[in-house]
Amino acid sequence: MEDLSRRLKEAAQRAEAVGLQALLISPGPDLRYVAGYEAVPLERLTCLVVPAVGEPTLVVPALERAAALESGAGRAGVTIAPWRETEDPYAVVASLLSGVTRVGVDEHMTARQVIRLRDAMPGVRQELASPALGPLRMRKSPSEIASLAAAGAAIDRVHEQVAGLLRPGRTEREVGRDIAELIIGEGHARVDFVIVASGPNAASPHHEVSERRLQPGDSIVVDIGGTMPDGYCSDETRTYALGDPDPEFLAAYAVLQRAQAAASGAVRPGITCEDLDATARAVLVEAGLGDLFIHRLGHGIGLDTHEEPYIVEGNAMPLETGMVFSIEPGFYVDGRFGARIEDIVACGEDAAIVLNHRPRELVVVA
Ligand code: ZN
Ligand code: ZN
Repeated sequence: MEDLSRRLKEAAQRAEAVGLQALLISPGPDLRYVAGYEAVPLERLTCLVVPAVGEPTLVVPALERAAALESGAGRAGVTIAPWRETEDPYAVVASLLSGVTRVGVDEHMTARQVIRLRDAMPGVRQELASPALGPLRMRKSPSEIASLAAAGAAIDRVHEQVAGLLRPGRTEREVGRDIAELIIGEGHARVDFVIVASGPNAASPHHEVSERRLQPGDSIVVDIGGTMPDGYCSDETRTYALGDPDPEFLAAYAVLQRAQAAASGAVRPGITCEDLDATARAVLVEAGLGDLFIHRLGHGIGLDTHEEPYIVEGNAMPLETGMVFSIEPGFYVDGRFGARIEDIVACGEDAAIVLNHRPRELVVVA
């Protein structure tokens, strides 16, 4: 159990440091992070008001009062302000912010709520809360890393069973449905995404599933993830093959494996996000495959599947101990095939702590 009072205090300090006088946080990963409150996103406004100076208040619909009191925020002694059906919750939030001229709203707040808040506080400039909250969420505590390791182990157990689901004649959708069941069966509370991209479909990195039937000779990208009961996410890709794949594919896959290993091996505090991306990319470029690696190397992961730090050219931020992110190079050839290898890693004191452990070789299903 994280020290929520400390997180709330840090959030307020960070808000002040970036020039925001308050943070307005609605249901989603930010609220879960600072308040330990897994609130249902409703059209009714739930909003944690964190002033840079002063005490936070959790504004909730009256019918959510009990849930709010039981949440981390309630247990940490945050004031709960319930509003009744006939009240205007936006006016309640505005009343907590007199004298404030700049607020940060969390990235997941709905447009309807952002606009109604703006109407309730016409003189207040709205910005994103991310510059305040991103740096906090990006540096994981040991217990958060343990949570992400548990998520990694759970999705490893799913991948361990994927080869048994791949047979010629089955559709991607059928395989995907089985995988979704396994994601829950292996301990996740929610399935976030299931990509089963076979044959030419694998040339599209974010293909989901289709009615295409698996055929002998197919290579199949399986990229899957879910959210564990404590809110932390998994995300792991392995590439499989049914029978003998194209020799050209095999040659490229061997390079991809080296690229992925090179990046994992280069993780340490101080290396910049863009240099880590370049480490993997250089291996593919040298083999003449650079143009086929059409996306960034990776993304941070925690209470969101995609969060800071983004491992991408142009991001000169140095890695720090405790940052957790994916390393997922790939290659994509339109109309033919694609492949990706993805692990989640934590930046340790002097090397990567790899949180996924399935073999990275092409998994050939005979
Ligand atoms: Zn993935
Ligand atoms: Zn990913």
